[in-house]
Amino acid sequence: MLYNRKQVQEHFKIDTSTLRVWLDKGVPVESENGIEYFDVETVKDWLEERRSGINNLEIGKIYDNKTISETFGCAPQGGMRRSKLTNTLVLFSDHTTGIYDDKTEIDDNGNEILLYTGMGQTGDQDVNHMQNRTLNESNETNIEVYLFEAFVQREHIYRGRVELVAEPYQYEQFNRKVWIFPLGFLEEKTVVSEDLTKKRDENQEKEAAKLSDKELYDRAKKIKSVGQRKVTTKVYERHTHVSEYVKRRAKGHCDLCGNPAPFNDRRGNPFLECHHVHWLSRGGEDSIDNAVALDPSCHRKMHELDKKEDTVFLQQKIKQYKNNSK
Ligand SMILES: [Zn+2]
Ligand SMILES: [Zn+2]
Repeated sequence: MLYNRKQVQEHFKIDTSTLRVWLDKGVPVESENGIEYFDVETVKDWLEERRSGINNLEIGKIYDNKTISETFGCAPQGGMRRSKLTNTLVLFSDHTTGIYDDKTEIDDNGNEILLYTGMGQTGDQDVNHMQNRTLNESNETNIEVYLFEAFVQREHIYRGRVELVAEPYQYEQFNRKVWIFPLGFLEEKTVVSEDLTKKRDENQEKEAAKLSDKELYDRAKKIKSVGQRKVTTKVYERHTHVSEYVKRRAKGHCDLCGNPAPFNDRRGNPFLECHHVHWLSRGGEDSIDNAVALDPSCHRKMHELDKKEDTVFLQQKIKQYKNNSK
């Protein structure tokens, strides 16, 4: 099919400024008897070629900013970046920048939805402003929307294509109104690990600790909902016999502080927890020579403070048990 400019715009659902960028970047244009025309198939191939780098991105992989802006042909900064060249909108959800964080939830069908906050740093956000508008209208236009999420600074995890799955809505974010865009994933893949969300939470705890009592109260009092996210997690398959053995071996007393268990469990046994002196997550083994029984508070202490002297003490304790059983 041979089209003029207007028809090309209609066919690809692009505006005049996008076509201008395409012309600048060498979209194939023919002319006959001084009349300019476009061959739709050739234009399509040309656009595919511009987008080929995008198709090669891998969901779940980390990309740096330079690669992203080169691949999409978008600006090197901003949370919402429009590329007219590839006719895409690239969104960044950065979980490292504090407590005004995009939340996720799981809908009734089990799909993960990201509640993406629009652009505009000060005052009320406007849904018709710049890329908010682009995103708002993205289901009617041909603009493809892509998402990157960062849990660690400068490490952008590629989440693939996303689309608006519900009407954007306004949300009162402290002293102003922001727009929230519910985004669904075209290819849903669980790629965010539990470790990453923990790192994010630790950062946010640090941020929250810096707030004054009043600021903290103002933020905390408004929160009612709980977010949900699908994450990948590593589960250690521990052996019940090891944990049962070390608890019996401790005879109802914590191997670290020596105090009796704080209460009895449902079956009437002293409540102690099995702890691996050389942590399983650091390559420790699940054996009676690496495990002890701790009361809950000493157990938390080991994981929170991870003190060398406590570790040495527990290793000694295991040695004693071994010598006594000889
Ligand atoms: Zn203890
Ligand atoms: Zn432990």
